[in-house]
Amino acid sequence: MNAPNRPWLDLRSDTVTRPGLAMRAAMAAAEVGDDVYGDDPSVTLLQERAADLFGYGAALFAPSGTQSNLIALLVHCARGDEYLVGQEAHTFRYEGGGAAVLGSIQPQPIANQVDGSIALADIEAQIKPDDFHFARTKLLALENTIGGRVLGQGYLEQATALAHRHGLATHLDGARICNAAVQQGISLRAAVAGFDSVSVCLSKGLGAPVGSLLLGGQAFIAQGKRWRKMLGGGMRQAGGLAAAGLYALEHHVARLADDHANAAFLARELAKISGITVSTPHTNIVYVDMPAAACAGLAEVLNCERIRATMSPHMRIVTHLDVTHADVERTAAIFAAYFSHWQD
Ligand SMILES: *Cc1c(COP(=O)(O)O)cnc(C)c1O
Repeated sequence: MNAPNRPWLDLRSDTVTRPGLAMRAAMAAAEVGDDVYGDDPSVTLLQERAADLFGYGAALFAPSGTQSNLIALLVHCARGDEYLVGQEAHTFRYEGGGAAVLGSIQPQPIANQVDGSIALADIEAQIKPDDFHFARTKLLALENTIGGRVLGQGYLEQATALAHRHGLATHLDGARICNAAVQQGISLRAAVAGFDSVSVCLSKGLGAPVGSLLLGGQAFIAQGKRWRKMLGGGMRQAGGLAAAGLYALEHHVARLADDHANAAFLARELAKISGITVSTPHTNIVYVDMPAAACAGLAEVLNCERIRATMSPHMRIVTHLDVTHADVERTAAIFAAYFSHWQD
């Protein structure tokens, strides 16, 4: 079983993909200029194409999703404003508290439901009246997919309409929105309908090495550009990276269905193993619950098999561009062999 020359299989995240030959060729061929002067034709092309694809007035290329979410929060909210956000949301939990630290923006976290949504009644209950005791509620921020779960289009329509009815803006952390669109068989425009702004990661399932896009109206993006500069995200000859992003948008969206199929196959195989509990994935993320005492041994086996994984009793496995069907078959077999011998 041990194959020392086998390349590593990395199941930790879909951020780990490396650009393939065709993407590298597109990067090498990219025309570049100084994007801080607005002179990089490849960045401009990526932004124009993305704005059109997602149905917004403009787009902004940012070095990371953390930065593009932060730019959105900084444009939507001023000092002393607040945004409503899920307890499990990336913009609340996994971005270092950037909105509070750099924007003096107060998050109002709200419990996520089991399906990843925030209950409409909970949103409504947290919208503060106009009273100087309260922070000014300005924004509803949702995330789709969230923990690999797809939020229903009906829910998104109701939640964004509720926010707008109360005068709030709406932002979508759509790091994996392309997964949500492909899973539902809907267009990217339909998937983001109702949101005033969206952040989309090019470096997750889409397989680009670096970068995110912020989408919004022209005035919103013009303000965003100022914040991006202040945050140090103004990049010079970024056209090579933009070309990778453009290649990803053109060639790697529909194929996300393969990642979803591999995740579904893996989940079905793992579900046959007694002693562990497996989630039914909507998209490319599988959760495996196992006894804490099983983790160390499994970590050792996976390491010997040259499989990188984030080991935890609530283990997350992510499929992506660099994971084949044979890889998930092999992974399932390794789990089955391990748990057939493992005893509590
Ligand atoms: C990955 C991710 C981001 C952004 O992450 P970066 O590493 O900063 O690009 C934002 N939101 C969600 C939901 C993510 O999964």
